[in-house]
Amino acid sequence: MSKKIIIVGAGPGGLTAGMILAHRGLDVTIVEKRSGVGGRNAELRLGEFSFDTGPTFLHQKFTLDEVFAEAGKQAADYLEFQLLDPMTRLSWGEVALETTSDAARMEANIEAAFPGHGEGFRRFMSDHARKLKTIYPCLLRPYHELKAMVSPTLLKALPYVATTRNVMDVLQQYFSDERLKLAFTFQAKYLGMSPWNCPALFSIISYIEYKYGIYHVRGGLCKISEAMSRVFQENGGSLRLECAVREIQCAGRRAAAVVLESGEVLHCDDVIVNADYGHAATRLLNGRSVPVEAMARKKYSCSTFMMYLGLDTIYPDEPHHHILFADDYGRNVADIQSQRRVSEDMSIYVRNSAINDPGVAPAGQSGLYILVPTINTRHGFHWHGQSAAYRDKVLTRLEDRTGMKDLRRHIIAERIITPVDWRDEQDVFMGATFNLAHTLDQMLYLRPHNRMAGFDNLYLVGGGTHPGSGLPTIYESGRISSNLLCDSHGLPYQRVDYAPQFSA
Ligand SMILES: Cc1cc2nc3c(=O)[nH]c(=O)nc-3n(C[C@H](O)[C@H](O)[C@H](O)COP(=O)(O)OP(=O)(O)OC[C@H]3O[C@@H](n4cnc5c(N)ncnc54)[C@H](O)[C@@H]3O)c2cc1C
Repeated sequence: MSKKIIIVGAGPGGLTAGMILAHRGLDVTIVEKRSGVGGRNAELRLGEFSFDTGPTFLHQKFTLDEVFAEAGKQAADYLEFQLLDPMTRLSWGEVALETTSDAARMEANIEAAFPGHGEGFRRFMSDHARKLKTIYPCLLRPYHELKAMVSPTLLKALPYVATTRNVMDVLQQYFSDERLKLAFTFQAKYLGMSPWNCPALFSIISYIEYKYGIYHVRGGLCKISEAMSRVFQENGGSLRLECAVREIQCAGRRAAAVVLESGEVLHCDDVIVNADYGHAATRLLNGRSVPVEAMARKKYSCSTFMMYLGLDTIYPDEPHHHILFADDYGRNVADIQSQRRVSEDMSIYVRNSAINDPGVAPAGQSGLYILVPTINTRHGFHWHGQSAAYRDKVLTRLEDRTGMKDLRRHIIAERIITPVDWRDEQDVFMGATFNLAHTLDQMLYLRPHNRMAGFDNLYLVGGGTHPGSGLPTIYESGRISSNLLCDSHGLPYQRVDYAPQFSA
């Protein structure tokens, strides 16, 4: 009889593990507390406007293709991908840089905005091809055993990994202009971190982005989770929505059953937890839970203040992705890093996907997704009393600094999510939207393990475990944990590898 697996949560990590394990013949049930799949990657609907709740940048698309293939399917049969070119407009007051994965045009754009810096770009790309090749294999394996820390793969990568340098220090070698350094380090925000304390190894993220490009998915990136859910069910998996898990029953080193809020008990051979790590470890472990105070001692990512606006117009000249840096970006990230101060001089990310994907809004209308990185809830900022005023400041800045001069007049639908809402409504510990910080003391063996420490059959997937937060790494976590689980039952599987140039 096939082994019975329960997965807690239908976010990207849980869905990845679910579709792979169902394809390998296991009897898999995903229990999800919400009425739809996707978690932070779910669709957010405002009447006829459709938004992505969270992820809007899909990079390292080959990892997504790989996990679909490991589930016996082709991602392109389920999803319509669009390589974005240009990718993102980066703005510092009057100066703007349009980024692209076309190396010649990227160099020309850099020369136009920052004369004399094209050479630094070429050097960055060539050095980072080598760096990625060394680091990438380290991200594909589990670190639940200490011996993984002395594996030849990791030892080879140590000069890149075991350094106190940050990504800004790395970029110092290529560019003298601070703004240009930011164009290659702002990706630290994908991990919810500041470029000034994001470990040096993560400069590979901007390389991957500028080398392989970023993708939009028609209908929004939430369609990825919906497609994974279809694959999961086509592969024989059972999806139960609106089924909140109250606790995971533990007996010694084993997770024996999952108890739903309804009182129903689901017995199983293995449990995979996709719920936010801090939330699950403090609430769901039935006598083995970590005290909230102990969990709070860990380091967390920033949070985000979100605005989803339905507009009765389209701004055709505004880019798909636009990042407006704070005038004093260093101060802005220091505010966030201190976890205490909400910046008045904020950085803003705006996504105007209707220019490439009109189907996400009624004809002639559009949806704007606005993300402002800000402090998590550690020090208790009172968002409920202040979010309207903050919203106004963000809108004023957008009207001043973009072509959307009459933005306020066109808003016909609106939803705001504050850090407190992430914590209280979306079960995100400390409202830290990008999970545990990716500091050296919380990575690899030192990050919560794919097979949870102290258990033989309890696995983690998602942004809180190895390799970390961000869609490609979360998909990888789903694959790594699935493989560990299959290893424990002696079940064979074959790895699909569409990026042998990195792994060789
Ligand atoms: C605003 C924002 C923007 C982002 N942008 C990007 C981006 O552009 N690119 C990128 O690569 N990454 C991005 N990320 C990061 C990351 O990719 C997403 O957060 C991703 O959705 C996290 O996936 P996950 O698998 O960790 O779990 P989640 O998405 O958090 O899913 C966990 C699931 O578990 C469920 N659950 C929780 N508790 C229970 C319970 N007790 N019982 C049953 N179910 C439960 C939840 O309802 C949820 O569905 C972004 C994140 C945010 C928040």
